[in-house]
Amino acid sequence: MEKVIIFSAPSGSGKTTIVHKLLEKYPQFEFSISATSRAPRGAERDGVDYYFLTEEEFLRRIEADAFVEWEAVYAGTHYGTLRSEVDRIWSKGNVIVFDVDVVGGINLKKIFGDKACSIFIMPPSVEELERRLFGRGTDSEEVIAKRVAKAGQEIERAPEFDHIVVNDILEQAVAATCEIIDNFIAE
Ligand code: 5GP
Repeated sequence: MEKVIIFSAPSGSGKTTIVHKLLEKYPQFEFSISATSRAPRGAERDGVDYYFLTEEEFLRRIEADAFVEWEAVYAGTHYGTLRSEVDRIWSKGNVIVFDVDVVGGINLKKIFGDKACSIFIMPPSVEELERRLFGRGTDSEEVIAKRVAKAGQEIERAPEFDHIVVNDILEQAVAATCEIIDNFIAE
């Protein structure tokens, strides 16, 4: 059966680290590469981390109904999942792994229903989240302030997910996530 696993979390919760570990462990899992209109950060590559589009191109594809789901995650910056990406992964018989923001995760769960398992990665606290974002050293103070402000609202929506995993100690969070996924795949 076609299946999808959805990960959402406030930025800096360690979600992407957990997702990468799972992709190493489960060979039949494939990361859904989102499209975005933001500029590449650090070592990010087009077609690997994201499909980097100009804002004009992104808007043109919204008009063309090319997205399963899209959102202006930050003012003036769009993110979305292309229909072609879902087709690409399912056509190989693989399980799709989404790493999207909280609103996107809730929307994707509604779209995919029983085919989907949605998991919220919870930071131990908002203070710890802020510390991790500074430690990452990839974002400006202004961007970090925006992400921290958004985190509080996002955490309130955690109960709308099928599962919540607290990422305090990474290995434990990965183990808890694997257990959830093994059950879902066995269904
Ligand atoms: P970043 O700029 O840090 O890579 O991502 C910012 C936020 O956008 C993250 O929470 C990320 O999960 C989310 N995001 C990435 N791709 C998508 C997508 O396709 N749809 C939605 N709704 N959010 C996304």
